[in-house]
Amino acid sequence: MFSIAVDEILLGAVQRQEMDKVLDVAKRFLNWESPYWNSFHHPEHLAGWLLTNFHCAYCKVDLLDEHIRLRRAHTDHLLPQMKYPHLRDHSMMNAVASCDVCNIMKGNWDPNERDPLYAGGDLSYEARLLLIERTKNKLQLMTRPSPNQVLDIDKVRLAADKAREKLY
Ligand SMILES: [Zn+2]
Repeated sequence: MFSIAVDEILLGAVQRQEMDKVLDVAKRFLNWESPYWNSFHHPEHLAGWLLTNFHCAYCKVDLLDEHIRLRRAHTDHLLPQMKYPHLRDHSMMNAVASCDVCNIMKGNWDPNERDPLYAGGDLSYEARLLLIERTKNKLQLMTRPSPNQVLDIDKVRLAADKAREKLY
């Protein structure tokens, strides 16, 4: 478990969209010389994490809840870095905290490809939120089990219960 003392300052700054302040908080974190925070090479990436208060932007899981989850989390490039290299290192708007599961599923999928919201320059906060929403919907569609799969899961559960009964 980690305790973050700057929550209130931070959430206020995010709500008021004072992005300079959010970036300042990120820079302060990086000065703590903790081995974990040092793994962020760009304060903009950590600032992107602060915008979702260390939750996965896509499935909302709290990345600080378990050490292993934090270690495996990624900074996702909302608009994929291959296609938008200028947003790679120094755009906090394009840096999104993501659990490993969501990030791996998203891969290089570009939420801006159909019906573009981003046309150049830095990404706006509004566009960021909408593109995150599109990605969330996409991931939900990808993980929604088919009716047959739901049935399979039920069968597996039933078989596991029966196997367990025999053990006791
Ligand atoms: Zn996630």
